[in-house]
Amino acid sequence: MPTDRRPLALIVEDHPANLMLVQAVLERAGYVVAAARSAEEALDRLHQVKPDVILMDIQLPGQDGLALTRQLKADPATAAIPVVALTAHAMKGDRQRVLSAGCDGYIAKPINTRTFATELATILRTCRNAGQEE
Ligand code: MN
Repeated sequence: MPTDRRPLALIVEDHPANLMLVQAVLERAGYVVAAARSAEEALDRLHQVKPDVILMDIQLPGQDGLALTRQLKADPATAAIPVVALTAHAMKGDRQRVLSAGCDGYIAKPINTRTFATELATILRTCRNAGQEE
């Protein structure tokens, strides 16, 4: 991530309170935030902006977050953008489902506002290291 500009995060989340909370935490951590409330809105935004990371709710009206992630990872224009799932499902099988859909990591909901930015930074560092090994 270049240091001469603030990183851009796209939050895909249909629940207004969750969106506001994640947005506030990310802005405090130095991010500029774009928001989408559905997969359709997210695809629209992605025609306009190229985020450094996408925070992806799984349960969305219409196309869900896993299907959207698969779609983004299959498209060369968006495949390299790290996708971090925001998942209420803490079960091991659900984590596997999230990762096999192409998410680069996940953060459990309800989010911990004190540790969220650090958790995200750790996931993004892992993504960058994986990218360098290729
Ligand atoms: Mn939701």
